[in-house]
Amino acid sequence: MIIKCDHCNIEFNCSPSNLDRYRNHYCCISCKHIAEQQFCPNILEFQRKLFEKPITELALEYDISVKTIHKFINQNKLIRPARGSWQKIFANKLTIEELKKEKHIT
Ligand SMILES: [Zn+2]
Repeated sequence: MIIKCDHCNIEFNCSPSNLDRYRNHYCCISCKHIAEQQFCPNILEFQRKLFEKPITELALEYDISVKTIHKFINQNKLIRPARGSWQKIFANKLTIEELKKEKHIT
């Protein structure tokens, strides 16, 4: 059965037995490793990082998927900047200091 890899979105042939057995499906072993790697940074430090740069950049920095970061944020109930905040910062309509103050981050 042709399905999309949960990591890179490439379509690949997945056997029906694997399809039933696992919740996530990957086209290759390296996608599986990247997607399922343990991501356990220091929570306080990572909370601070969330107000330093956008999640897409953090994903590159930590070499993990954005999905993994979202999962970590939800699991640890971290506070993240409001939607669209980074666009405002890049457009110089908001500073990181104001962003932190908004969410009571020190
Ligand atoms: Zn893949």
